[in-house]
Amino acid sequence: MRITESKKITDFFGCNVFNDGVMQKYMPRETYNELKEVTDLGKPLNKELANKVAKAMKEWAGDMGATHYTHWFQPLTGTTAEKHDSFISIDKSGNTVLEFTGSNLRKGEADASSFPSGGIRATFEARGYTVWDCSSPAFIKKSRNGAGILCIPTAFCSYTGEALDKKTPLLRSMEAINREGVRLLKILGVDAERVTANVGGEQEYFLIDKSVYEKRKDLMYTGRTLFGAKPPKGQELEDHYFGTIKPRVSAFMKELNEELWKLGIMAKTEHNEVAPAQHELAPFFTTTNISADHNQLTMELMQKIAKKYDMVCLLHEKPFAGVNGSGKHNNWSLVTNTGVNLLEPGETPYENAQFLLFLCAVIQAVDDYQDMLRISVTSAANDHRLGANEAPPAIVSMFVGTELEDILTAIEHDIPYGSKEKELIKVGVHVLPKFPKDTTDRNRTSPFAFTGNKFEFRMLGSSASISGANVVINTAVAESLRQYADILEKSTDFEADLHDLIKSVIAKHKRIIFNGNGYDESWIHEAESRGLLNLRSTPDCVPYYLADKNVELFTRHRVYSPTELHARYEIKLDGYCKVLHIEAQTMLDMVWKDILPAVSAYSKELTDTALAKKALSADIDCSFETDLAARISALTATAVKKTRELEYAVMGVKDVEGTLEQAKYYKDVVFSAMNELRIVVDELETHTSAEYWPYPSYGDILFSVK
Ligand code: ADP
Ligand code: MG
Repeated sequence: MRITESKKITDFFGCNVFNDGVMQKYMPRETYNELKEVTDLGKPLNKELANKVAKAMKEWAGDMGATHYTHWFQPLTGTTAEKHDSFISIDKSGNTVLEFTGSNLRKGEADASSFPSGGIRATFEARGYTVWDCSSPAFIKKSRNGAGILCIPTAFCSYTGEALDKKTPLLRSMEAINREGVRLLKILGVDAERVTANVGGEQEYFLIDKSVYEKRKDLMYTGRTLFGAKPPKGQELEDHYFGTIKPRVSAFMKELNEELWKLGIMAKTEHNEVAPAQHELAPFFTTTNISADHNQLTMELMQKIAKKYDMVCLLHEKPFAGVNGSGKHNNWSLVTNTGVNLLEPGETPYENAQFLLFLCAVIQAVDDYQDMLRISVTSAANDHRLGANEAPPAIVSMFVGTELEDILTAIEHDIPYGSKEKELIKVGVHVLPKFPKDTTDRNRTSPFAFTGNKFEFRMLGSSASISGANVVINTAVAESLRQYADILEKSTDFEADLHDLIKSVIAKHKRIIFNGNGYDESWIHEAESRGLLNLRSTPDCVPYYLADKNVELFTRHRVYSPTELHARYEIKLDGYCKVLHIEAQTMLDMVWKDILPAVSAYSKELTDTALAKKALSADIDCSFETDLAARISALTATAVKKTRELEYAVMGVKDVEGTLEQAKYYKDVVFSAMNELRIVVDELETHTSAEYWPYPSYGDILFSVK
């Protein structure tokens, strides 16, 4: 369906989703009610019900023109996977029929041998299972020729039950925070049936013209430019941020929004970002699991739709050196089934106590599990951003705003707060002094910022799934809540104990709070003196996966088993090595095949010209040609030397034992050699005629979409 101007969003919003309205239409009332109990209250799904739901889904999918179904899952590659099966089958009498049973819906068997498993599953027993996640609605993906595929969101696990995907641990972490949240609220006297983490993920991306993309091997093979001299104009003037959106981009955004809305994804905000050719899309927040699914679909659609407009959508964290990279802001909050946002400061002493306790739970979680938060966003690509002068630094800290920090300090030291009233704050007795909400939204350099009634975790990379980060936030906060519940459960003087608990958490974990400029050099020293971690790269942080306290956290809350953690450790390191290996090989290919021949040809043209001039008359000044030819030849010689060094560096990997050691080697030796080569080649580019340079320049790429 092409959406015309006259069509209202509400007329087609969610039209490709097996949502509540569709279920009610296609299922008998009791089936619908039974399924609701499964999805909303987590009751088990029996075979009979699965058959009934499958029947309804098949009918709906047929009416929607779908010919195939797929178990849609999220393997540890960070992207999504699907294998299509048509509904077509043959019955006992040999007639062609359409078939989709409860067992087709509930469970699938996928040959998993080509997905990363971190050693969990040997290839000879490569069976993997996909299992229906009925908490995320099924949907229909339309291909360009209009054929539809019924997509069933599923979890993916090994024959022996270990999670081989991003969804399973996320669902487990949601269960953990629900369990501990409900438990603590009960102690506080609140009868909540469920506590849910909500997430709104802002997605940054670049759009460039297809023609320039196709001329850059580095973009095609690695998603980022490996060479490229600085253009005369970058993002200095900051004239792109929130600027007028170009017509082609605007047309792209319109179609993207429509396709997202059809899938029930609440695309809300769109704007130009800081760097030229950079944009952002933010959806309205929803439950973490659905938010993660939606973000995967958003990235997929961005790439697909860009192609229709002869553009390429770059989701890499750092496609261009010298201009901002792309990230994702993960806005996270906790809400009860009765609609209370637990991170919203309240009006009454009681609500304030609840707010402070949940605030403390997050402060403690971020402090205790800084290492895991850092790991949850790490990748070779995101390492280029974190710590550079644009994104949050690699040091995890928290911003709460000065007003809230003053309140916390007043509680910690039992000192009066506020310039006028000067009152002592007793938790559970006093109303918190009002603090202006909008001042909590202005620190853009903080990795983890309190923004009034939610936290914004800003370290996530643009291409990565949001699941990993939310697994850590949910589980770490669940752990704080568990500890508080254990203490308060035994309390005999509730108000006093609550006050003391909050006081002690502030005293112990305030070191993680930092309201200053996270880009400032002095913060690095300050953070160090506070004992905060500064894990600059993937090989630096990944070993923390296996730290005892982290293994204990995830096993206690049944989010990752030790085997699953170990698998993720291996996969992160292995992925890091592979990315660097491909980048190094691409550089070598570009240099030998394109760059060196180009500069050689150009210097020949220069020397030919000089010779021709000289032949004409000895008096003609040839200094431009001869000087430049000399300069280019000297740079070329250095480039060849650096290329050979990179070759040796890459070859040296085979002598390094162990994944962690290899990852370190890639970072210290291969990556350094890549950087050195790039410096010389970029200098060569600056001196070479555009006619000879084999690739579109940064200027050509960044301003390619007119
Ligand atoms: P910005 O960070 O650019 O100022 P906004 O404050 O408008 O943007 O919100 C950014 C994201 O935060 C959106 O995806 C929005 O839906 C989400 N968001 C807003 N409130 C909440 C909440 N209570 N819980 C989770 N996410 C939220
Ligand atoms: Mg934001």
